[in-house]
Amino acid sequence: MNREAVMSIAAEVEAMKPHFTTLSDSIWDFAELKFEERQSAGVLAGALEENGFAVRRGVAGMDTAFIGEFGQGKPVIAFLGEFDALAGMSQTAGVAEVKPLEPGATGHGCGHNLLGVGSLMAAVALARHLKTNNLPGTVRYYGCPGEEGGSGKTFMVRAGLFDDVDAALTWHPAPFNGVRSTNNLAVLEYFYRFKGMAAHASNAAHLGRSALDAVELMNVGVNFLREHMPQDCRVHYAITDTGGKAANVVQAKAEVLYLIRAPEIRQALDLAARVDKVARGAAMMTETEVEIVFDTASTNLLPNITLETAMHENMVALGPIAFDEADQAFAKVIQDTFTEEAIKSSIRLYQIKGDVFSNGKIDGSTPLHLGLRDFEGQSHFRAGSTDVGDVSWTTPTAQCWTPAWAIGTNPHTWQVVAQGKSPAAHKAMAHAAKTLASTGLSLMTSPELLATVKKEWLEKTEGSDYVCPIPADVMPGSHG
Ligand SMILES: [Zn+2]
Repeated sequence: MNREAVMSIAAEVEAMKPHFTTLSDSIWDFAELKFEERQSAGVLAGALEENGFAVRRGVAGMDTAFIGEFGQGKPVIAFLGEFDALAGMSQTAGVAEVKPLEPGATGHGCGHNLLGVGSLMAAVALARHLKTNNLPGTVRYYGCPGEEGGSGKTFMVRAGLFDDVDAALTWHPAPFNGVRSTNNLAVLEYFYRFKGMAAHASNAAHLGRSALDAVELMNVGVNFLREHMPQDCRVHYAITDTGGKAANVVQAKAEVLYLIRAPEIRQALDLAARVDKVARGAAMMTETEVEIVFDTASTNLLPNITLETAMHENMVALGPIAFDEADQAFAKVIQDTFTEEAIKSSIRLYQIKGDVFSNGKIDGSTPLHLGLRDFEGQSHFRAGSTDVGDVSWTTPTAQCWTPAWAIGTNPHTWQVVAQGKSPAAHKAMAHAAKTLASTGLSLMTSPELLATVKKEWLEKTEGSDYVCPIPADVMPGSHG
C-alpha cells in the first residue's frame, strides 16, 4: 500500500492515543477474569458506540462478548480484541520488584488491557478513514472474552459470527517488533474425576477404594505414554482435587486436569483418546470410577503468509517506534530482574533482529527492541496455544507483535503487569493499532491482495474440514 495512506492512518491513531491510553489503563485497573470482564467489555463497547459503531452485546451466549460494526458491504474486515486478566497476578505498575497491589488479587499478566484497546484503536482509525474518503466496506471489532483458558473466540466461531468475514487481524504485546508466523499447537482440556469409597485408612483400609490412588496411577501411566507420543505433542496436568487433607482417610474423590496439545487438532483428539484409556486403566486398577469432563479446546493456528507479508510491509512503512531514554531506562531496570540466560533465550526464541532498520546487525542490544524483525515468509513452531486458531480456520487471519515489554519478558509474569501502564507499552499499543488499521486498509483497497490472501487460505484448508473442537452441548464458562 502507498506510504501516504499508511501515514494518514498512523496520524489518525496518534491523535486518538491519549484518550485510548486512559482506557487501557482503566482495563488494567479492572483486571477482570475470564467471562467476568463486565467493566472492561462495557468501556470498550461504549468507546465503539461513541465512534459510530453499532454494537451487539452478549453474543454467542457470553455476557461479555460483543461485536461493533461500522460501514457497509464487502469486504468485511475483523479486528480481534481481548481484555481478560489472570488470577493471582496483582502487581504495582511502574516498579521493578515484586509488589502486589493486593496479595492474591488479579492482574493483567498477559497485557490484554493493551491488546483489547490497540485493536479497537485500529477499528476506529480504519472506520474514520473509510468515512473521510467515502470508501465502501465493513469494519468489525470482536470483543473476545475469556482468552485465558476460556476459548471465547472458539465459541464465537461456533456461533457462526465469523462466517461472513473476509479477513481477521490481531496482535499481541511482546518483547519484539514484527510479524512472526507461527503455527501454535491445538489444545484439549479435560477434567478426570475419580470416585472411590471412603474408609478408615488403617483399621478398615481393605474396604476403601482410593480415588487419589487412581489419580496417581493415571499420572504415572501418562508419564510412560509420553515416550510414545508424536513429535511436538505436549501433555501436562494439575491435581485439582486431592480428595482431602486427612492422611488417615481413604480418599473417595479426586480430580486431575489435563492439557493435551498437538500440532493438529486431529492428533490432539487421538492423543486424548489414549489418555482416556490410561484413566480408565487407573480406575480399573483401583476399582474406582472415572468421569471425563470436557473443559475447553482450541485449534492450531493456520498462518497466512500472503497476509503476513502485507502486514510486514506496512510495518516497514511505519518505521521504528519512537522509544525515548526514559522508556529504555525503565525497560533496563525490568531487564535487570532477568537472568542473562532468559534475555538470550528471548532473543533466540523470537529471533529478535533488526535487519530492516539496522542494516543487518543483530538488534537485541537495547532493553526495548528498536528494530523490526525480518519476515522470513515461513512459519515457525510455537509451543503455546490460542483461540485465534479457530478464527484462522474460518477466515484468513494474521497477527503482529509489538515491543510493549523489555526483551527477556515472558507472558504471565509480574514483570508484564509492572510494564502494563508504561509509556513504552502505550507506544507499542499505538504501533500495533497503526499496523492493523493500515493492513485492514490494504485489504479494503486492494481486491488483488484480498483475492491472493483468500486463495492461500482455500489451498491450505482444502481437504481438511474444520470441526469446532468444543462439543455442541458445552456452553461458555459453564463447563468443567
Ligand atoms: Zn495473551
